[in-house]
Amino acid sequence: MTASTIASMHAADIAARSQAGVAVEVVEETGSTNADLLARAASLDAPLLLVARNQTAGRGRAGRSWLSSSAGSLTFSLAWRFEGGVGRLAGLPLAIGVALAETLDKLGVQVGLKWPNDVLRDGDKLAGILIETQNAPGGGVWTVIGIGLNLLMPDETEALLGRSIASLPWLARMDRNELMAALLDGLAGALREFERAGFAAFSARWNRRHAWQGQTVVILDAGKTLHEGAAAGVDDTGRLLLDTREGRITVLAGDVSLRVKGALQG
Ligand code: ATP
Repeated sequence: MTASTIASMHAADIAARSQAGVAVEVVEETGSTNADLLARAASLDAPLLLVARNQTAGRGRAGRSWLSSSAGSLTFSLAWRFEGGVGRLAGLPLAIGVALAETLDKLGVQVGLKWPNDVLRDGDKLAGILIETQNAPGGGVWTVIGIGLNLLMPDETEALLGRSIASLPWLARMDRNELMAALLDGLAGALREFERAGFAAFSARWNRRHAWQGQTVVILDAGKTLHEGAAAGVDDTGRLLLDTREGRITVLAGDVSLRVKGALQG
């Protein structure tokens, strides 16, 4: 990949290749596209995609960070307004995982999903999803859906994180505007479907891609094991189904983490 591949990302080119009818902005560099869109949400009157050619302070859940490289990743956020309250958004991060997986599928890449918000390739994390919300001034909720997708990350990233991560060298060679437009179309389609039908429309699709189906896992909260059992997929609201010794329980995402039993990282 060359620097020109990155420099060639342009808002007009992405919008021209997309069917989503969503406004697009591309910036050279920013700390966090999610932070930028959250700061602007009150003044937005329509969905907006913000792409950063270089993101320097990407965020994950619970204050964790998301690392990216200007040449080797795609970092963007999509602001989308939902009618109603945050209660309607149950399962949204999982629906976004399905949208990413289905879009990548069309591009010839098979991925798995890990509850609640990870996209995995061969067991390693390929993409991170962070959704943040804010009440919209005229009613409803602005959601800012941030995504970091590894295309061809430098080797140092794995050393920095202390875990192996996934990349997509083949997609790294694809025209970035086209790739971004395909992802935008997949996301916008999924968001419209979610608006109409909620997560119930996605649960079976999520379960088909569940990377840890049947495996013994532990649910951790700040390093402490809360539950242990066999991962049995998700229900129609996006809760994890866990078959424990005491029977089946459901787990809400919150800030808990999921690990395969015995593994330090997931
Ligand atoms: P957990 O793995 O504990 O459940 P999470 O999956 O919810 O957490 P996120 O908030 O989605 O974590 O992502 C942040 C985590 O992802 C960081 O703590 C780091 O370990 C890892 N990470 C950061 N950058 C990358 C990257 N480019 N590729 C893969 N993993 C990354």
